[in-house]
Amino acid sequence: MLSRRLNSLKAYKTETTKARIRLSSNELPYDLPEDLKTLILNELKETQLNRYPDPNSEELREVIGDFFGVSSENILLGNGSDELIYYLSIAVGDFSQGVYVPVPTFPMYEISADMLGRPKVCVQLDENFDINLEKSLELIANKSVVLAYYSYPNNPTGNLFSKEKIHRIREEGVFTVVDEAYYSYSGESFKDEALKREDTVVLRTLSKIGLAGLRVGILIGKESVVSELNKLRLPFNVTSPSQIIAKVVLSSGRDFIEESVKKVTSERERVLKELKGIKGVEVFPSRANFILFRTPFNAKAVHKGLVERDVLIRDMSYLPGLDRCLRVSIGKPEENDIFLEALEKVLVSLN
Ligand SMILES: *Cc1c(COP(=O)(O)O)cnc(C)c1O
Repeated sequence: MLSRRLNSLKAYKTETTKARIRLSSNELPYDLPEDLKTLILNELKETQLNRYPDPNSEELREVIGDFFGVSSENILLGNGSDELIYYLSIAVGDFSQGVYVPVPTFPMYEISADMLGRPKVCVQLDENFDINLEKSLELIANKSVVLAYYSYPNNPTGNLFSKEKIHRIREEGVFTVVDEAYYSYSGESFKDEALKREDTVVLRTLSKIGLAGLRVGILIGKESVVSELNKLRLPFNVTSPSQIIAKVVLSSGRDFIEESVKKVTSERERVLKELKGIKGVEVFPSRANFILFRTPFNAKAVHKGLVERDVLIRDMSYLPGLDRCLRVSIGKPEENDIFLEALEKVLVSLN
């Protein structure tokens, strides 16, 4: 018989509406250049798909280590960082002990805790979308919290939490997971702490820098922590096509990634400015590749109006504290222009 825990769970839902301009999943708007694709195809041709992949992704861990400036013993790979979040919720403390999540944030932290029936301490962010430290410390003590997840920068609000507050909460004996999915766009990291400490790990991903289709997530931690967590990892969790493609792109495609990230970062600043110029729109600062904003109108209506104009972004108004808020991913300049123009028209039509 299925566990009653499943009754209260919901399957993960994501935005699947069809639209020509897709700015809803924080993907890189640029696909790989032709020459890189040719290199990949040549490598794939040599691959025996009847054989299991390298169970430890040895070569890929070397390449990723080199890319992020750590050694391969400090790296654990997942089928996306989502898988690594599951492992961490299993690995830290007992299931009767609490998981701390400052909200609103990325849903996987709560989902992984719920899946195991772990108690959660979800504390609403303050008016600047930073951690409410006083409230958090109070609840963490009450609920024997042993594990904390921080999206850094935070999805969907776009800001970086205060490092000091994360440190202060860690002092309560809380294992600290810093999810740096948007590291390439923020440049801020807890990597050095993760390499030294047994109570801190960093998560990265290839999903936001051009390889969302591969599902490669990265955990960076101290060697002793990584080798313990590795015991939970499913065998062959990174497929051989994913290993091969990631290796090619992270060794021969670095210029492509670097230039793409630069273009997106500069477009982010432009879109921020343009959004601020639209009457009635409140824009929140961003260190990621997306922007959160609020309009005077119902977010569902704004979302629908944009879809009718073939532009897909994400309605975030269902999350606590994000009334009338939507999140737009930064696209190519021409996509951003189409979005901005469509938004202006939708807002005029709703007025
Ligand atoms: C997009 C995102 C991820 C995605 O992880 P995958 O590697 O694609 O599973 C993880 N964390 C945050 C905060 C994200 O926004």
